[in-house]
Amino acid sequence: MIVVPLGVASATPTAVRHLPSVALWREGSVFLFDCGENAQMRMLQAGIKRSKIEAVFISHFDIDHFGGLMGLLATLQLQRRDKPISLIGPKGLKEFVEFNLKFSNIDLNFEVKYHEIDEDLDDAERVFDDEEVYVEARPLNHTKFCVGYRFQEKDRPGKVDADKAEQMGINKDEQFKALKAGEDVTLDDGSVVKSYEIVGHPRPGDSFAYVTDTEYTPQAVKLAMNTNILYHEATFGKDLADKAKETGHSSTADAARVATEAQTKLLVIGHFSARYTNEHDLLKEARDGFYPAWIANELRPIFTDPTHERGIITPKVELNELNKKSGGGGGSRGKKSYKGGSKKKFRSRKGGSRRSSSGSSSSSKSSDSGSSYKKRKKYGSSTYSANIKDKKDDSDSSKHRKITPRSSYDDFDRF
Ligand SMILES: [Zn+2]
Repeated sequence: MIVVPLGVASATPTAVRHLPSVALWREGSVFLFDCGENAQMRMLQAGIKRSKIEAVFISHFDIDHFGGLMGLLATLQLQRRDKPISLIGPKGLKEFVEFNLKFSNIDLNFEVKYHEIDEDLDDAERVFDDEEVYVEARPLNHTKFCVGYRFQEKDRPGKVDADKAEQMGINKDEQFKALKAGEDVTLDDGSVVKSYEIVGHPRPGDSFAYVTDTEYTPQAVKLAMNTNILYHEATFGKDLADKAKETGHSSTADAARVATEAQTKLLVIGHFSARYTNEHDLLKEARDGFYPAWIANELRPIFTDPTHERGIITPKVELNELNKKSGGGGGSRGKKSYKGGSKKKFRSRKGGSRRSSSGSSSSSKSSDSGSSYKKRKKYGSSTYSANIKDKKDDSDSSKHRKITPRSSYDDFDRF
């Protein structure tokens, strides 16, 4: 499966971050987790077909998480979609969608299959189920009812060793079927062929957990248990842990804690507060608690099987070259500077440590990346080694930078 972050902002979008949404591609089908404003545009830019959406999972009814849903449905209607779509979310989702459709005089050509989750949910609920995958919801701990999701591929049966089976006297289809189903087969001469002698171990399916907006909760750990990829919010840095708690959000330390307890293979942090212009600073904090971590880069695919999945989804726009070379703050500014090769207008930063350190970045970069590569190798996760180019970037950024909140007159209000 391929996970593509479409928007990694929290409540307020910035010039380079869009509102929350994550697309998951699997075998040609797309599953959308939250649908912030602009999610449908970001899908186009990511190179993911909107017509391939099977289901949309909404975490809660803060508008930044579902503001793009009606626009998306209207587009699907204009595309003359005729296959059903599943919409999953807290109770009230159906009323919201149907009111808006009626208000806009839209009579959908396609069926909407709703699955609404009651607010008294206190454990796992299976909210989507087909032959190959299922999705489970659990309640999180936010200022309003909010659920997290776990997307799970079902285990595939083990391989049958046909040669060995024949040698042992198995020759009928029913016998093969029985063995595959885990049953032992008694032959005419009375000897028994055990299923485990012929059939290999079931191959475990890949899994993905989507956990946002929440304080630390054991339910998040359950959702993320042994997942290949855990997408977890890290709205705040450690310095604002109090604010995280107050607003029902997680800090970088909370995200790392969930990842550690759940033993996920890869933690991806997102849902960044607008006050953090450089998410690599947050990444460094997360890695203090859980090393196989990475930041969600909008439109940059994350693979569970890089050898087979590379190239399936190719972004149609240039990706943010965050902090490339210049070590500057926001993505677009960093990119400009990289292209032009000269210093552009950087806002001066409190503390000033970044500016002074960036001068030597080109020489320190190569040595840093060498050592951090070794460190990474130790973990040996294939998922984790998906994009070496990017990994170089954090090594120098993490060394010197500290998180610099914006000044109070910047244009974010809630976070
Ligand atoms: Zn949010």
